[in-house]
Amino acid sequence: MKQKRNLILVVDDEPHILKAVHYILDRAGYQVLAARDAEEALSLVSRDRPSLVVADIMLPGMDGYKLCRRLRHSHPDSLTPFIFLSARDSVDDRVKGIRTGADAYLTKPFHREELLAMVEAVLDRHQSYAEQIMNDDLTGLLNRSHILQRLEEEFARARRYRRPLAAAMIDLDNFKAVNDLCGHPAGDRLLRQIAQLLRGEMRKQDFLGRYGGEEFLSVLPETTAADGAILLERCRKKVAEITARRGKNSEGIPVTLSAGVTELAGGDKNLSELLDRADCLLYRAKEEGRDRVAVR
Ligand code: GH3
Ligand code: MG
Ligand code: MG
Repeated sequence: MKQKRNLILVVDDEPHILKAVHYILDRAGYQVLAARDAEEALSLVSRDRPSLVVADIMLPGMDGYKLCRRLRHSHPDSLTPFIFLSARDSVDDRVKGIRTGADAYLTKPFHREELLAMVEAVLDRHQSYAEQIMNDDLTGLLNRSHILQRLEEEFARARRYRRPLAAAMIDLDNFKAVNDLCGHPAGDRLLRQIAQLLRGEMRKQDFLGRYGGEEFLSVLPETTAADGAILLERCRKKVAEITARRGKNSEGIPVTLSAGVTELAGGDKNLSELLDRADCLLYRAKEEGRDRVAVR
């Protein structure tokens, strides 16, 4: 059985359809949410951020087309995969459904296998798009906008539940010299290697992104600055074991990193205060001689 990975919202005003679709999806390993009308569906989408919406067209009040259109215009849910499951089976209805922005259209009565194949195909395609736009090409880490998005979410969560949250700004030292010595392609390979090393040192729940050229941002939920500094110190030591060389037997230069680690403080009203602090600490680590972690 498939892992319970995706949350699917089913919208239908007929209880027996809701029940049947719920049963089929649940048996296939999905988590299922149900809504009886479009208004309820919209509020569940913004509250629970489902991975997919499967909706009827004929609904009391706002119809399915309008629901789909509303979703397509609502940030940040505008890309939510959407399937129509409707008794309306004319070509015109299907065309209108797809033009409205649905990813697929299935008619009632439907076959269990067809529904599941459609759900799986739509989810898989969406997931692969999402991964491609979230990740940095060179390192495979989260890209700048997505690590900032994660930070925003974790910042809000940590403030709301009064949980610890640490952030670390990491910058490779004298990386220009590494490029000058070894060439840009070798510099790229090193960046990839270091990205993997940092990722490998962190927990699954930690986030790591490429913030800029040779600069990384790490978001560490449930972590204090002191614990974050221990992690970054471990990373620093591992990276310092790397030497950049032009050729096998040539003299090399050590590769090192500097980092600024801070934690969410009671007075932080917005993200930029936390980020600025991490940045200032990174700057201090550079000033104090590089190859070090500054924490506050
Ligand atoms: P500092 O210790 O002060 O951080 O010195 P630095 O040389 O690392 O910093 P600086 O900001 O002066 O230069 C950053 C260098 O990182 C310059 C650039 O060649 C290199 N760099 C940035 N992005 C990439 C990349 O994608 N690939 C490679 N190979 N190098 C990059
Ligand atoms: Mg640098
Ligand atoms: Mg830099």
